[in-house]
Amino acid sequence: MIQQMIRRLFGKKDRLSQPVHKKKQPTPVEKAKHHIDPQLISKNAIKVTKTLQDAGYLAYIVGGAVRDLLLGITPKDFDVATNATPDQVHQLFKRSRIIGKRFQIVHVTFYSSSSTTQRQEIIEVSTFRALLEESGEHIAQSGRILRDNVWGSQAEDAARRDFTINAMYYDPASERVLDYHHGMADIKNKLLRMIGDPTQRYREDPVRMLRVVRFAAKTQFEIEPKSLEPIASLAHLIHDVPSARLFDEMLKLLVSGHAWSSLCTLRDVGLDQGLLPMLDAILEKDSQTSFAKLALDRTDQRVQEGKTISPGFLFAALLWEQVYTEWQLLMQTGKPIVLALHQAIDLVLANQREVFAIQRRFETDMHEIWSLQPRFEKRIGKMPYRLIEAPRFRAGFDFLCLRCEAKQLPMELAQWWEKFQITTPDEQAELLLQVKNESPVNLSSNANKSRRRRRRGPKHQASDEKLLDVEQSP
Ligand code: ATP
Ligand code: MG
Repeated sequence: MIQQMIRRLFGKKDRLSQPVHKKKQPTPVEKAKHHIDPQLISKNAIKVTKTLQDAGYLAYIVGGAVRDLLLGITPKDFDVATNATPDQVHQLFKRSRIIGKRFQIVHVTFYSSSSTTQRQEIIEVSTFRALLEESGEHIAQSGRILRDNVWGSQAEDAARRDFTINAMYYDPASERVLDYHHGMADIKNKLLRMIGDPTQRYREDPVRMLRVVRFAAKTQFEIEPKSLEPIASLAHLIHDVPSARLFDEMLKLLVSGHAWSSLCTLRDVGLDQGLLPMLDAILEKDSQTSFAKLALDRTDQRVQEGKTISPGFLFAALLWEQVYTEWQLLMQTGKPIVLALHQAIDLVLANQREVFAIQRRFETDMHEIWSLQPRFEKRIGKMPYRLIEAPRFRAGFDFLCLRCEAKQLPMELAQWWEKFQITTPDEQAELLLQVKNESPVNLSSNANKSRRRRRRGPKHQASDEKLLDVEQSP
């Protein structure tokens, strides 16, 4: 209320009082000019727009899918925008559900099956949003939008979208694109331009700062100076974003197929502070062989080959250097290997939770992958046989390979395990004998072990073994 009065007194306009957005006419772009290949469009997205149009509503493919189609890229998912309300959409599709509270949308699910797999596709349908007043109970003091379920015109919906190239609407029936904010020109000029006043748009939703970085890395477009300039000074607003949303956006960025260049751009625009601890270390200039760089390169390659990604593995890789450092420090204070590792893990995860929490199920994966690491260094007795039966052995082994490539451990260790897991029982015994006869390789925990053995009596050794036993039970 007071804010509203101050605004009126100082003459700052409510955007609702700017009728231009409500009535703004789009530029229609015909097929001969946009060259969208209909083969790249999801049949299910077409079904959704057709069903809505047949029921008398407006319906378009919108957002990133149109952007990608114009760039000749197969979109990874399809969003539909309509003037039907979520309830009306839900009534038209048997397999649909309304999701979200603060920002309601409808998920329409389709299944297709081949002889071997069943695939699921979700088309996200959102109702045209109205422009919001700059103040009111749905806006936080920082300017961040808290709730957003007010329906509006298509022109308003376009003005509410983030970048000009994300604000185009494609009608599969007429094969026409409706361009509200010169998106076609920006596509041609390879420019990422925020719609409206960038500072205000970033304040409304600080996640847009992460989005611009992701799109810049994905499209290789330049960020328009006016859209770039406010980011460094508004970067701190990222911390107001609810943790779950921040996690989702970070995950999108990391599995975009351009994770490494996205993280570099995050640093270049001044957004790296505090998102992932030690991002600076990860991005150091001489980090070409760093563990995180290797992991991200591998991830980017997998995404570009259309393979699946395990977010748990990815976050385990990104936070590993930190876990590893803490682990070494704790061992130097005389803590047993496994106990030190668990304490290091707890510490790093607690620090990360303060910034943005990684979903529990991924945290569990990370924990498992990390906890397996000391067990790869125990190549005696029954231990290797138990390890290859452990449920997360494969992920733990892949992680070990990365560590070896990053020169944290000798390459022979990965090669030994590579053989041990696939070979015959006789050869396994032979491999174990080899290790027994070899002089010990310089593994991460060796220095600590010898120091402890000298210092401690049999009682302490027994308790260390107990810890390892707990560790080994799957
Ligand atoms: P991707 O290829 O990663 O899916 P996208 O642009 O489709 O990119 P989505 O998160 O799927 O991204 O969002 C779909 C569309 O919704 C966007 O293109 C944009 O028009 C709009 N949008 C999404 N998030 C925001 C936001 N935070 N602020 C404004 N508009 C947004
Ligand atoms: Mg999308």
